[in-house]
Amino acid sequence: MTHPSLPTPVADSAVLISGGLDSAILAGLWARERIIQPIYVHCGLFWEQEEISHCRLFLEAISSPHVLPLIELHQPANDLYGAHWSLSGTNVPGHDTPDEAVFLPGRNVLLLAKALLLCHLRGIGRLGLAPLGSNPFPDATPLFFQTLSSTVNMAVNGNVSVELPFLDKHKVDVMRLGMGMPLQHTFSCIRPIRGLHCGACNKCAERQAAFASADMPDPTIYANFPGSPPCTA
Ligand SMILES: [Zn+2]
Repeated sequence: MTHPSLPTPVADSAVLISGGLDSAILAGLWARERIIQPIYVHCGLFWEQEEISHCRLFLEAISSPHVLPLIELHQPANDLYGAHWSLSGTNVPGHDTPDEAVFLPGRNVLLLAKALLLCHLRGIGRLGLAPLGSNPFPDATPLFFQTLSSTVNMAVNGNVSVELPFLDKHKVDVMRLGMGMPLQHTFSCIRPIRGLHCGACNKCAERQAAFASADMPDPTIYANFPGSPPCTA
């Protein structure tokens, strides 16, 4: 906590953090060398309560004086996505579905516009995001990020840049960068059960594959997954 007589530290960079593996690892990496402002954007999605709880725990667990208190923004999407599975939690894409099944139309427009404006208003010059090069979605391309940030900068005479340090990396490389971080406090599931990863959805499958590919023990307790530690929730 900042001493009341000292000025509030100004972040060198912001990180748009979701509570998942990639953005948590990016926050952990950057916090080693610069003051970061983590930002979480609530959209009202089905898994957000568990996600934000884990996000707070992760930031607390990395215990770095370079991490400023999490800023939570709100950009509700229920009036936009309607009965979509991301809001209802029903018919959630399962273990064997392709990446394309979890596309949330234009979600990065919602997340980025507000996060970029916050950076501008707080005098933070860089916003870090953690998409991988394998991300198949049209709102995760370098051109999209460049165009949207230019538009927002134009709107406010701003100069906030978007940095994408994982864009040329594979998941296994990012996981290895996260070795030694408290990754048990990250959350990836889109159909949580009793606060736990379900073990059966598209994102749980991706999480299990990520730990396996990096030859790292998976610390996650899955509600429904053979071989998982027993669920006591
Ligand atoms: Zn799941």
